Amino acid sequence: MEIIAHITWNLAELFIFRFVTIGRENREAWMVRMKIEFENKQIQFNVQYGIRKKISIHIDVGGIITVKAPNDTSNEAVKRAVEQHGKTIMDKLSFIEKAKQIPRTRDYKEHGKFLHLGRYYFLHELIETQDLNEEELRSALKKFYISSCKKVVAERIKKYQSQLKVKPKTIEVVDSRTKWGSCSSDKNLTFNYRLAMAPIEVIDYVIVHELCHLTHMNHDRSFWRRVGSIMPDYKDKEEYLARHGHSMTL
Ligand SMILES: [Zn+2]
Repeated sequence: MEIIAHITWNLAELFIFRFVTIGRENREAWMVRMKIEFENKQIQFNVQYGIRKKISIHIDVGGIITVKAPNDTSNEAVKRAVEQHGKTIMDKLSFIEKAKQIPRTRDYKEHGKFLHLGRYYFLHELIETQDLNEEELRSALKKFYISSCKKVVAERIKKYQSQLKVKPKTIEVVDSRTKWGSCSSDKNLTFNYRLAMAPIEVIDYVIVHELCHLTHMNHDRSFWRRVGSIMPDYKDKEEYLARHGHSMTL
């Protein structure tokens, strides 16, 4: 089974995957990777050329830097622009790095707090906790998330399937460390059970994203247009996953 598209768990991979996809797509092939030295550190960034008047620099929540530049901009001019904003960029990157280091402690006790559909609950509100040790609680909680994810996905996908007029062959809920969802070339969709920790709207987004892959195999513009036609604010959901994904674990 060939996996052709997915939403990644790890932000570094998200970048690589997107970059490769764009590289294969001729229309958007004018994206290159550059780096500069700034105060003894390296700043790496993507440069996306297009019809535009000014250079702009964007850093996403995962720390990926994209410079958008007019088609005829020289490498030197791009690097100069990044250097001019080097201080701001370094500040933002260090802030993102710190946010990633927030410890993920899990308190497997009756009053430990765990996410379900975007809200925190006491463990005993989600599962039967009596007489179970930590390991058993953990495995019971995992089962709970898996069945909750199956239920939510099965319910929500109906609406979007009919809106998008597509039909997947199989829908599976899986344990994945790297992907929120995937769509294979033979129309099998998978969803990460950890999505049960996310708000419904975010689960909806992953559903829409994977359903759109049934007709658009990559992340080109027509793919995003289709996602946006169903869910105009999909970027907020992507941002939610980028921001909170690391804490959505057992
Ligand atoms: Zn995708």
